Amino acid sequence: MVAREINALTQPITELKGVGNKIAERLHKLGIKQIQDLLFHLPLRYQDRTQLLPMGSLISGKEGLVEGAIRLSQVTFGRRRTLLCYLDDDTGSIVLRFFHFSKVQQQQLSEGVRVRCFGEIRKGPSSLEMVHPEYSIIPTDTIVPVDAELTPIYPTTEGLHQLSFRKLIKQALIFLTDGVSLPELIPPTARLHDVADSSLAEALGFVHQPPPDVNVQLLMDRRHPKQRRLAYEELLAQHISLRKVRSKMQSHKAPILRTDGQQRNALLTALPFSLTTAQQRVINDILKDIKLGLPMQRLIQGDVGSGKTIVAALAVLESVTAGYQAAMMAPTELLAEQHFQTFKNWLSPLGIKVGWCVGKQTVVEKRRVMAELVQGEIDVLVGTHALFQDNVIFSRLGIVVIDEQHRFGVHQRLALRDKGRNANIFPHQLVMTATPIPRTLAMTAYADLDVSVIDELPPGRTAITTAVIPDTRRQNIIERVHIACQQSRQVYWVCTLVEESEKLQCKAAEDAATELQLSLPDCRVALIHGRMKSAEKDQIMMRFKSGEIDLLVATTVIEVGVDVPNASLMIIENAERLGLAQLHQLRGRVGRGKLESQCVLMYRSPLSENAQSRLSCLRDTNDGFLIAQRDLELRGPGELLGTRQTGLAEFRVANLMEDQDLINLMSAAADNLLTSSPDNSDALVERWFGHKIDFGQV
Ligand code: ADP
Ligand code: MG
Repeated sequence: MVAREINALTQPITELKGVGNKIAERLHKLGIKQIQDLLFHLPLRYQDRTQLLPMGSLISGKEGLVEGAIRLSQVTFGRRRTLLCYLDDDTGSIVLRFFHFSKVQQQQLSEGVRVRCFGEIRKGPSSLEMVHPEYSIIPTDTIVPVDAELTPIYPTTEGLHQLSFRKLIKQALIFLTDGVSLPELIPPTARLHDVADSSLAEALGFVHQPPPDVNVQLLMDRRHPKQRRLAYEELLAQHISLRKVRSKMQSHKAPILRTDGQQRNALLTALPFSLTTAQQRVINDILKDIKLGLPMQRLIQGDVGSGKTIVAALAVLESVTAGYQAAMMAPTELLAEQHFQTFKNWLSPLGIKVGWCVGKQTVVEKRRVMAELVQGEIDVLVGTHALFQDNVIFSRLGIVVIDEQHRFGVHQRLALRDKGRNANIFPHQLVMTATPIPRTLAMTAYADLDVSVIDELPPGRTAITTAVIPDTRRQNIIERVHIACQQSRQVYWVCTLVEESEKLQCKAAEDAATELQLSLPDCRVALIHGRMKSAEKDQIMMRFKSGEIDLLVATTVIEVGVDVPNASLMIIENAERLGLAQLHQLRGRVGRGKLESQCVLMYRSPLSENAQSRLSCLRDTNDGFLIAQRDLELRGPGELLGTRQTGLAEFRVANLMEDQDLINLMSAAADNLLTSSPDNSDALVERWFGHKIDFGQV
């Protein structure tokens, strides 16, 4: 009985009416192969055509349905030929704007005709508008009823229209109402009671065809209990799939990295500082991992300046002492070079040979490094993504450290790990990020990694004071820079231009440098930007570090990693153009020494509401985690994680912001499911993520 019911839903979609090979192919692209897959293809959002909005109440930015009579219809010939229809109802008016239109359409939309339109309402040059709305002509003296239900909008692909989708889903839903039951894969003890009181079938039917009396706002916000019922399942499926990646990893072997600790103590004794408790804790986590013979997969989160580099150095040292090589990868050449220098300072006194590999090296130099690497003469190789090149061959790679992880992404991470793979033995992997990711997000996006947090800054750091100042006060700010230089403090002046070309950004920095040098003749001003030769950049950074430069005018190239403790004032131009995370990261370049530091966020008015929130958030706190949380609220998780890089932040129904409470339950729920019904766990993952699992290769 049960088996037959399940079979009905596992039939290929070609069993449905209207699905030939062509449509099936398109559906396959969306990961839809069986009838059941259609049921789990959930609406992205809804359109509300259940009521006519009075034109007097329209709000720009929202979608809506309106109806009125055309008062005036005209074609204008500005930059583009445009058809404008001025539409009125009893309460107000709106303009319909068409850039593409046929003669027939133009005749149809003539004065006096009643039209009903659906579209996004926007602010036009003189009044509210709809650009290319969907519309239908309403014959005089007829009343056409509005829709009874919300219209679901599905994620789709070329050649598959919303309408055909709705028809297919309708057919698939019939299976459910015909008494075919979807197997509940989550055991009752692992269900969440407030959201689990409806069956899976009910919940699916509801989100595909919300009833007329639904609370529209809840549904639109993906907060309806029926949606949460599904979100819970989806989050659990995702959590379990990442756990599977992890356990698959743990079925591989890794070198056992364990030493008597003498070298480690030697390094610690030689350091001019002692480790913070947080650093010690994290190093202990790592040491515990890498002696087990299973590949470590650990993420270190630590705010800018929390001292991640020494943690990396200690892990690397352990590997080398145990007889293996280590690789350290940084996102920019500047940073790679800085790590190379730091590692050399720390490790070469211990008899360890540090090499480096970046794009700018000469062929001869590279060849020499590669030869030494493959022969095992180089113990530690520091580099940029140049480390991925085919000719980079390690002889015995024990550990890979990746700094500033979010710039690399999951795939590169896996590629680098594969480089060091030797038969079934994988190197350990340590990933470090200064972009603090809120805990709930880390739990979903990085469930394949163990996470350690350096939640303490080294002592003696003074908090950075941040001021938000309009660019009309540029002269005052320049005077402030002047005073700082006279006090032998060093200053960064950051020029930002996002969205526009790097060329423009560099030009802006060049102009600023010229202007500042003119205004401040007694300051030593230098310029650094992305279009300069690496050697030139390095040289300038070195001079800044050694105090030969007072004021460094820079583009955002200095965003990551650069460490000049004497720099204690930073001016960021056009700060309103940058995101919170980036601003926080930039600001982290100051406040690294004993001097009290300041950061000035200079902006150009008027500020959007969002920009205003960002700037005041930075003014109010230096806490990277708070800032990340705020960033998540303002931008959403996809952007925060870089969706393209993780491929994991896209959910069908779960909402990482709204469902944080559910996320917190996942770990326990997964334990429960994996022990009580392990077979169901695969089916659950298949149900929700079957279409995009390339976890298999992991
Ligand atoms: P980040 O976590 O941003 O990579 P770094 O590793 O660059 O931070 O460390 C920032 C600065 O703090 C460096 O100059 C480093 O030598 C110093 N530092 C690291 N740990 C400590 C500590 N425990 N006490 C004092 N200074 C430290
Ligand atoms: Mg760093």
